[in-house]
Amino acid sequence: MIPIAKPLIGEEEKQAVLHVLASGMLAQGPKVKEFEQAFAQFIGTSHAIATSNGTTALHAALLAHNIGSGDEVITSPFSFIATANTIAMTGAIPIFVDIDQTTFNLNPRLIEAAITTKTKAIMPVHLYGQACDMQTISNIANKHNLIIIEDACQAHGAEYITSLHETKKVGSQHTACFSFYPTKNITTGEGGIIVTNDEHIANKARKLITHGSTTRYYHDHLGYNYRMTDIAAAIGIEQLKKISTFNNKRQQNAIYLTEKLQTIPGIIPPTITPGHIFHQYTIRITKPFPKNRDQLSQILNQHHIGNAIFYPVPIHKQNAYPIYNSQSYPIAEKIAKEVLSLPIHPSLTTEDLNTIISCIQQANQSYSKSQ
Ligand SMILES: *Cc1c(COP(=O)(O)O)cnc(C)c1O
Repeated sequence: MIPIAKPLIGEEEKQAVLHVLASGMLAQGPKVKEFEQAFAQFIGTSHAIATSNGTTALHAALLAHNIGSGDEVITSPFSFIATANTIAMTGAIPIFVDIDQTTFNLNPRLIEAAITTKTKAIMPVHLYGQACDMQTISNIANKHNLIIIEDACQAHGAEYITSLHETKKVGSQHTACFSFYPTKNITTGEGGIIVTNDEHIANKARKLITHGSTTRYYHDHLGYNYRMTDIAAAIGIEQLKKISTFNNKRQQNAIYLTEKLQTIPGIIPPTITPGHIFHQYTIRITKPFPKNRDQLSQILNQHHIGNAIFYPVPIHKQNAYPIYNSQSYPIAEKIAKEVLSLPIHPSLTTEDLNTIISCIQQANQSYSKSQ
């Protein structure tokens, strides 16, 4: 079986966890602080606030920017549900804008038409590990005086190029949130983090994740317990040391797969862009490929090759969002029927990659022969 995702936990992580267990400091302590400093340095921000998961990071980040009831936040309908849920959790209203079919990210050309007097923020999602068009999105946000909060939960270390030809890391220019769920490029079990260069926002977020308090048992406002544990942070510190190795291997795997898969008619592999860290490697299955997406998924399953659909239903068509169900974002709806994510994780061997490629090639050929 070639799994679709595989967390890589080594001896270093195990020793680090045992060390925390032996210390007796199991909840938030010195390891969280060390992880926050290391992650802030990795992204290049002055502050990082570790949280219990990516969802709580997004919720606290939105609240720290005073986003709430009466506000509208523009985001993508083609994302994990947490993106829209965290906006809704603040009392604000998610406003969807359709995606671009080659990057799967927010189409910046459609953003301005969605801006109203209630728009307060844009939440771009760097889907599958590929940065959004942040230059254009930042220009729009500046022009309309909007906040940007990046959902970088799939994009640890992803980069983009600015109009001044500078390379920037996702999350380095605006408040951004990352997740450390086991399928992400690095993990802490469950975990998340907010990064920002704004000290005021950092202080607010830190208070929000610990019941609105800076001094124990003195509470200035409503807050939550969204803290990371030292056990999780100890894993994160070790994982972060390996992130460049992990991301480079994912990129190499992607280059290998795309080179072979791009020759199969109807299979549209992802384009290889320099800053893409391939949290997912997602192909589109279109005509004239002889099988549809669900049939190819079944064939891969029969050959014990892990695969997954991120995401089968766009957020505006989810049962959880009935008032959006009649809305239409045609590219997101079309893409949701075409995408299939293949294994891309760093522990894949060349043999694994060849098995994946030949299975898709055979699915193409077996049909041609039977014609
Ligand atoms: C994983 C993820 C989240 C939420 O992170 P959790 O740690 O699972 O709460 C949010 N947005 C996107 C795009 C994600 O992929």
